[in-house]
Amino acid sequence: MMQNLNPQNNGQRELSEDEKRAFRAARRAAIQMCNCILTADFASSYVLTRAIGSFGFRTEVQVRHNAQRLLDGYDIIKERIIAMDNDTVRYDPTDIDFAFTYPQREVIVLGKAFWEALNDSGLDSRGGTIIHEASHWLSTLGTDDIAYGSDQRLHSHRTLLRNADSWESFAESFWDENAAQAKPIDAQLGKRPRPEDS
Ligand SMILES: [Zn+2]
Repeated sequence: MMQNLNPQNNGQRELSEDEKRAFRAARRAAIQMCNCILTADFASSYVLTRAIGSFGFRTEVQVRHNAQRLLDGYDIIKERIIAMDNDTVRYDPTDIDFAFTYPQREVIVLGKAFWEALNDSGLDSRGGTIIHEASHWLSTLGTDDIAYGSDQRLHSHRTLLRNADSWESFAESFWDENAAQAKPIDAQLGKRPRPEDS
């Protein structure tokens, strides 16, 4: 989600220490999900199918033609997530959604649904949510909320390349099936966060 209004911090508060730890694990999951795509073979049918599903490409040629744009997109999203300051994450317990952000501020305000999601598994994961929000920032892709879920099929790839949920769902669908072979050594950190992790 995205909000254009200036935050007035209506129900927002800082994260507790436990929540900060959980968010760091979710952020690592987001980075791993990006890495998974950045090291993928964009000529494989596996990648092509998922890119067609999330971004509305009609043909494999279209995917190949836009592969560099996808790679550049996940690269900048990953870099900005790495550079995120943990103090810029806030929680609004009155918000039932996953999260929202502001295009000009690299801030993520979490909602209740965020804490009910898994770090890096399934659609609407915590990691995927962070990718979604980070894609909205003008310092990354400046995406909009155009379509969610199956509604994405109603749009062209030109439109969906500007759609935050397409960036999220591609990362999530890709990660889910690829995780077994690509899972990095600290993939379990999400379940067992260590205090020294930052
Ligand atoms: Zn959004």
